[in-house]
Amino acid sequence: MEKLIITVAPTGNVPTREQTPHVPLTPKEIAQDAFDCWNAGAAAVHFHARDEEGKPTHRKEVFAEILDEFHSKNCPMITQISTGGRAGSGLQRGEALDLCPEMGSLTTGSTNFPNRVYDNAPDLVEALAKKMFENNIKPELEVFDAAMINNGVVLAQKGLLKGPLYFNFVLNVKGALPATPKNLFFLMESLPPGALWNVSIIGEPHVRLSTMAILLGGNVRVGIEDNIYYSRGVLGTNAQQVERIVKIARMLGREIATPDEAREILGLKPKA
Ligand code: MG
Repeated sequence: MEKLIITVAPTGNVPTREQTPHVPLTPKEIAQDAFDCWNAGAAAVHFHARDEEGKPTHRKEVFAEILDEFHSKNCPMITQISTGGRAGSGLQRGEALDLCPEMGSLTTGSTNFPNRVYDNAPDLVEALAKKMFENNIKPELEVFDAAMINNGVVLAQKGLLKGPLYFNFVLNVKGALPATPKNLFFLMESLPPGALWNVSIIGEPHVRLSTMAILLGGNVRVGIEDNIYYSRGVLGTNAQQVERIVKIARMLGREIATPDEAREILGLKPKA
């Protein structure tokens, strides 16, 4: 079995300082947190940006600051920028792709979020995919519902994605697909041949379903974006969440990928 790629999503668009003291919000805090998570065993970091008030922003300048702070630490992790919908709308969501991170998140369909529609119209998905393709950015295909897998396959058929395709099953968002073993098996079995996959499990089932992913050859994303709680009622840091996944994987006999090993598995260029 391939080594396990652990991605950390330290910030997201939703968690606030009021909810947890552990969420990194400024570029400096985010870079330091990513660095700590690399030391804990994470190979990739999924960045979101916040403005001066801590609100989500799509602005390229803020992402540039995050990347500058991050690179100043000589941290070898894979960089991934979110093009998620809570920070902006339309193509502006992909503004920071101009900064050429190694990866970008790409949601291939629409779903509900707890309080709104997560709107990913076909032309927007295709435009974001095209921008990533042209800038040599590997998409992480975000799957909130089963149809999004085939939408990714269609993008590949149009020549907008390079293999191997990398899917992330984001399960248990209220409004989208629940995190159950049955759903995980169904999604796995729906993947095209050769595809790689990851899980981001929101809420209470995250340890169990992430463990299943480790056993089944998938990869795992953890972090405060997905879960502010380490366990019931106990807040945790991003690094603590990474450490736990490392521990579980080692107990189960699955080795952890370094950033460069993860690059090789994902078909990314080695870091210069
Ligand atoms: Mg995100």
